[in-house]
Amino acid sequence: MKQIIWDWNGTLWDDTWLCLEIANHMRQRRGMPEVLLSEYLENFTFPVKDYYRWLGLDLEKEPFELLAVEWIEEYERRRFECELQDGAYELLGDLYQKNIHQAVLSAHEHDTLLQSLEYYAVLCCFTDIVGLSDIYAASKIENGKKYISRLAVDPSEVLFVGDTRHDFDVAQSMGVNCVLVAGGHNSKARLATCGVPVFDSLYDVRNHIRELIV
Ligand SMILES: [Mg+2]
Repeated sequence: MKQIIWDWNGTLWDDTWLCLEIANHMRQRRGMPEVLLSEYLENFTFPVKDYYRWLGLDLEKEPFELLAVEWIEEYERRRFECELQDGAYELLGDLYQKNIHQAVLSAHEHDTLLQSLEYYAVLCCFTDIVGLSDIYAASKIENGKKYISRLAVDPSEVLFVGDTRHDFDVAQSMGVNCVLVAGGHNSKARLATCGVPVFDSLYDVRNHIRELIV
């Protein structure tokens, strides 16, 4: 295996709890009861517009663009309350030392993503950073396809690691291998329907990767 492409939110970075809190604050402001983490994990999806509808936000009454700004305002203010997932820092550093190329492909806005990677002192581990150009988190598929087409690597030598069904769809569209890790934004049961390995933690992902690069 020549290269790993990482998802950021939920995969390397533990921001699920914050996203749930922001969702519930948005619901509370509109007189709706809280959703549970278990419900969130079964329903969080891309494009986030569909997820907003599931949350009970009325996109006919409130423009999606304004809701996205409301969401991002709290997220920006609080994002550094989040930590890296357990084992992320060590795993990224370990692979960097082994000269495995690593990239991040994220639905985060590009500059926000760069700031986060810098803040958590992992920016140097990545040869490529691919974020979106806006805050609307529509899809990573187009960016993924563009990215893989300019990589001089056989897609069969590339592993995508993500935490959502969308990550699986992105990996499929790129023609690369995929493993998923629970503990992010989708439940393990939901990830298991994708038909690729699903791990409980980055420690298990590390063991899987070690087998691939020996
Ligand atoms: Mg994710």
